[in-house]
Amino acid sequence: MKISRATITLIDVPLLEPFVVAYATYNTMPSVILTLETDDGLVGYGESVPDGHITGETPTGVVEALRTELIPAILGLDPRDITAVHQQLNGALKGCGAAKAAVDIACWDLAGKAAGRPIYALLGGRKPEHPTIAKVMSILSPRVLAEQAVEARGQGYRHLKMKLGSTDGLDIERVRAVREAIGNDLAIRVDANQGWGDPATARTMIRALEPFDIGWVEQPIDADDIDGFRLLRQDTSMRLMADEAVVDAADLRQFVRDRSVDMVNLKLMKSGGITPCHRLATQAELGGLKVQIGSMLETSIASAAGFHLALSHPNIVSTELSGPMKFTTEPGNLQYILPEVQVTEAPGLGIDVDTSVLADLTVSECDVSS
Ligand SMILES: [Mg+2]
Repeated sequence: MKISRATITLIDVPLLEPFVVAYATYNTMPSVILTLETDDGLVGYGESVPDGHITGETPTGVVEALRTELIPAILGLDPRDITAVHQQLNGALKGCGAAKAAVDIACWDLAGKAAGRPIYALLGGRKPEHPTIAKVMSILSPRVLAEQAVEARGQGYRHLKMKLGSTDGLDIERVRAVREAIGNDLAIRVDANQGWGDPATARTMIRALEPFDIGWVEQPIDADDIDGFRLLRQDTSMRLMADEAVVDAADLRQFVRDRSVDMVNLKLMKSGGITPCHRLATQAELGGLKVQIGSMLETSIASAAGFHLALSHPNIVSTELSGPMKFTTEPGNLQYILPEVQVTEAPGLGIDVDTSVLADLTVSECDVSS
C-alpha cells in the first residue's frame, strides 16, 4: 500500500456564534482538509487547523507547506510506516505542527482502514469509559456567561472551561457570576491564554480566583516565560496547566525539570498529530505531569483523531475537543451525547466524511500526485 495522491482542500467552517479568546475573535474557522489516496484504493482523511499565535502557521501557509514540501516528501510511502512518514516530514520542514498533523492523521486513518480496526486499537486499545468534553465559554459579559452556564448545565455538561485573560478588569466577575449561577453543580477550569502576561499579575488573579473552586488555571502567563511558572508555583497551591508553552519535547522537558505545572495541554495541531502527541504524553507521564488533549476548534476529523489518542493513553486524563459542537455544519459526523463523545468501533477515525458538505465549504483546492 502506497500513498499515491493527495487533495488539499481549504475550507471555511461556520461557527454558531463568534469564539472570543484573549488574543483573537473568530467568526468562522478556516481548516485545511487533507485527503490521501493509496494505490490500492483506500481514502484517508486528515485535518489542519493552524493558529498563527501559537505555531506561526496560517491556513494558506499550511496549504503551501503541504503542496510544495510535505506531500511530495511522503508520496510513495506506506502510510502504516508512520515513523518513516514523520522522518520524511521532519526532514522536509522544521516545526509546522499543524501541517504535519494533517498528514499524520490521514496516515492513521488509512492504517486503521487497511487493518479494519479503529485507530485506538492500533495504539494499544481503549479505556472503558467514554471521553467527556467541557463547555468552552468565550470571553463575554458576566451576565451572558452566567446564562450560558445555566444553559450548559441543562444540556448535560459537567465541566465549564472559561476563557479569561481579558484586559477589561472583569475576569473575576465573570467567574463569580458563573459560580453563583450554577452553585457547585459543575466544575470550572479557566484558561487565560497568556492574557495576564507577567507572574505578578497572574499571582493577583489566581489569588482572587481561590474562593471559586477552580479545577486548574491554564496558561496564565506568556508562553516564553518558563521561569515565570516556577515563581507562580511557589505562590499558589492551585493546579497550573501549560498550553501555549508546550509544543515539543524540549518545552516539556523544562516543565518536568522545574515541576512548575501539574498538567500540560497537548494539541495535535501544535505538535504534529497523534504520533508526536502520544510520545509527549508518555514523556509527561514519566515526568509526573498529567495530560489534556486540547482543541483548536477542529471538525470531526481532527477531533476524532484526538479522542482516539486520548482513549488509548493512560496519562491523558482530560479532553476538550469540542469543535464539532460549535459549528453550524461541518464535513464529519462525530456524535456527542453530552457530556460524552461516542467513539465508534469503525475502522480508522470511525467517522464518515460528507464530500458534498466539504464541497459547499471549499475556498480552494489542489491535488498532488506521484
Ligand atoms: Mg489553552
